Amino acid sequence: MKDSDQLTRFLFDGTRVRGEWVRLDASWQAALARHDYPEAVARVLGEALAATALLSATIKYDGTLILQIQGSGPLTLLVAQVSADRSLRGMAEWNGEVSDASLHEMCSDARLVITVESNSTGERFQSIISVGQGGLAKALDSYFEQSEQLKTRLWLATDHHYSTGLLLQEMPASETETESDEYSWEHLVHLAETVTAQELLEFPMTDVLYRLYHQERVRLFEPEPVSFRCKCSRTRVATSLRSLGQDDMMQLIEEQGVVAVDCGFCKQHYEFDRVDMTQLFIDGSTHDGSGTTH
Ligand SMILES: [Zn+2]
Repeated sequence: MKDSDQLTRFLFDGTRVRGEWVRLDASWQAALARHDYPEAVARVLGEALAATALLSATIKYDGTLILQIQGSGPLTLLVAQVSADRSLRGMAEWNGEVSDASLHEMCSDARLVITVESNSTGERFQSIISVGQGGLAKALDSYFEQSEQLKTRLWLATDHHYSTGLLLQEMPASETETESDEYSWEHLVHLAETVTAQELLEFPMTDVLYRLYHQERVRLFEPEPVSFRCKCSRTRVATSLRSLGQDDMMQLIEEQGVVAVDCGFCKQHYEFDRVDMTQLFIDGSTHDGSGTTH
């Protein structure tokens, strides 16, 4: 579809309401590649990635924005990250058999942790929200209400081909809120409530926006590309191995000959043999770029 792997912002002229639309296609396929996620886990991961892309255009940050779902299972961990350049990555971990279930059913004590990391200052801001029966979209609505004091609504849909998200947000008032502002927000949300998962997944953005808002003046901005890109590298893996300590690492080499690490996000395979490991602890060198892929 023409609007694939793009994020488009829009404004409703004459109101304080803005919106965003994102559809992940190749970036969603890349996140699924080499993983064998159960259907229900993949669905939440797709929604989380679309939501993360939407968040990246509403929250100011210059580093990484991380959306994490934690719970006691069968879904135990889900991570979706987006950098300021809108490159995404995501992964999920689960235990045992997962039947087709909602996020709440898969993880009844699920907590949503949103972390915003700054590259320039190294600061981290974290918010924790419990995920109720309304799932991820509802939890994110309350995140914006609590952390940003902005009325926000999200609609998310995922299948094997696409992951799509629609967001509406009321911008801060410059003066006191008027009745007409309140009316526009309620009215625009009410119309968006009629959007179906099928429309989000299978119809071009312009068709959906026309169907919902042909009586409003919608101003679209230039679409911005969204892509999947993993930040893992041999150097990063080496740094984490070094932090585990020389004794433990050398013992693993004695037992196994090599220490192998697979990236949880993209499944890139990294191996460190005795020579690599010795160099790692003697002079910290890692021979970046020589990672082997199997
Ligand atoms: Zn990776």
